Amino acid sequence: MPDLSRPKTPRVMALANQKGGVGKTTTTINLAAALAEKGLKILVVDLDPQGNASTGLGIEAEHREFTTYDFLLDESKLDDLILETTAKNVSLIPATVDLSSADIELFANEKRSFLLHDAIRQPDMDQFGFDYILIDCPPSLNLLTVNALVASNSVIVPLQSEFFALEGLSQLMMTIREVRQSANPKLRIEGIVLTMYDARNNLSQQVEADARENLGDLVFESVIPRNVRVSEAPSYAMSVLNYDTASKGAAAYRALAQELLKKNDKMAA
Ligand code: ADP
Ligand code: MG
Repeated sequence: MPDLSRPKTPRVMALANQKGGVGKTTTTINLAAALAEKGLKILVVDLDPQGNASTGLGIEAEHREFTTYDFLLDESKLDDLILETTAKNVSLIPATVDLSSADIELFANEKRSFLLHDAIRQPDMDQFGFDYILIDCPPSLNLLTVNALVASNSVIVPLQSEFFALEGLSQLMMTIREVRQSANPKLRIEGIVLTMYDARNNLSQQVEADARENLGDLVFESVIPRNVRVSEAPSYAMSVLNYDTASKGAAAYRALAQELLKKNDKMAA
């Protein structure tokens, strides 16, 4: 029996791939919304200076007074940092371009790789009761992404179903190994999720076959189809589950959330 009197510790997952445009932000937003639909409380940490996750969840630039940068440096109150979004039960710490200088500015900080780890684990976080924290990483293997990997229990790797998809993966895997050796030995790969999958396209099928052959169980069974509703949703500042709840994209993200929860249940058992 879980002890309900104790504050729960959120599971922290980084969505990482140093390639841009592979579906990190889309998967962060929609997986968060799908987990929240199941009654879980989710925090999204926008760790990309482009701030796309913030925009996609309805936090306009003018409402980003306090950002992930302040969170990293422990310079703001959590009540100011953690915002409600357009998705029920999904909160967010937003990002602005400020973060782009963090890589350089934080370099002199002796705790530079542990800033996000320490920020997430500050005792005041407990009161929010988050079940999952999802970190939307920038498209590079810089200090910000290293912070995400050090802070996380596991990594989700979105992989776009197109030629060369697997190429960048070895670099990411090497970074994960380095982080395990230096700072976070328990870091797991939660799974690799194929995104923008087009079942009618031989190339998508080939990428899927390659990924499953080479990476086996690491690849989620759920695949995210290319779906126009998924790409439209952010311009309405909504998850696709809100924007078009009956769409194929929404169904795919619900299935991914279900698969992830099942995996985590098994591990906890
Ligand atoms: P990243 O965060 O890795 O840079 P994004 O999540 O921003 O990638 O996705 C890149 C682009 O692809 C965006 O314009 C997004 O709307 C689009 N996109 C992502 N997933 C899908 C999908 N399943 N179907 C259609 N378009 C998608
Ligand atoms: Mg992104």
